[in-house]
Amino acid sequence: MTKSNVSRTSRAKVGGKARTEPCPNCGIAPDPAGRPFSITFNLPDVYYDIHPELLDTWGDDPFLAIKDVGFYLRVILPVKLTDGYAVDFGTWLKVDPEVFREAWQSWNFPEYKDFSCDGLLANRMEPWNPTLRTHVRARVRDMDQVPYVFESPDPLGARIVTEIWPHDEVLTHYAELLKSDPPTES
Ligand SMILES: [Zn+2]
Repeated sequence: MTKSNVSRTSRAKVGGKARTEPCPNCGIAPDPAGRPFSITFNLPDVYYDIHPELLDTWGDDPFLAIKDVGFYLRVILPVKLTDGYAVDFGTWLKVDPEVFREAWQSWNFPEYKDFSCDGLLANRMEPWNPTLRTHVRARVRDMDQVPYVFESPDPLGARIVTEIWPHDEVLTHYAELLKSDPPTES
């Protein structure tokens, strides 16, 4: 994980009483409304590896092309965690130019609902650092959201998508982000 490349998307609060006690082991409290945490990678990691003078980009978010490097599309990678926690990683896929163009052309039109794509994960996510460049597939779940990763032909990628991971193992890497909210109750 590139520290400067990750942020937590703020989420609106809704009413209702949900378990918000922090976990005694990791100190992280679940989202008060029981929704997944959102942890967002601002850019593909490779962006930070390129000398600024050599960096030539088109677009920004959710479509980013980096000249001589590749085409990137923002997606959500949902990960299920133990004890009622979950996290949606906002991450990037490196996709073929044709896929990038297809996404661009359908993005704001009804045909977007049928959009799906293959690509390579473009962020090093904890605790699965070695999976950089893991091949995954994403499809549209909600017309108002970027595509969701839902399967992977790679064994570790498939585990990330389908297994329920110990929440501490994943969230402690992002503890600073997840504890940064002010308390919801005094
Ligand atoms: Zn915990």
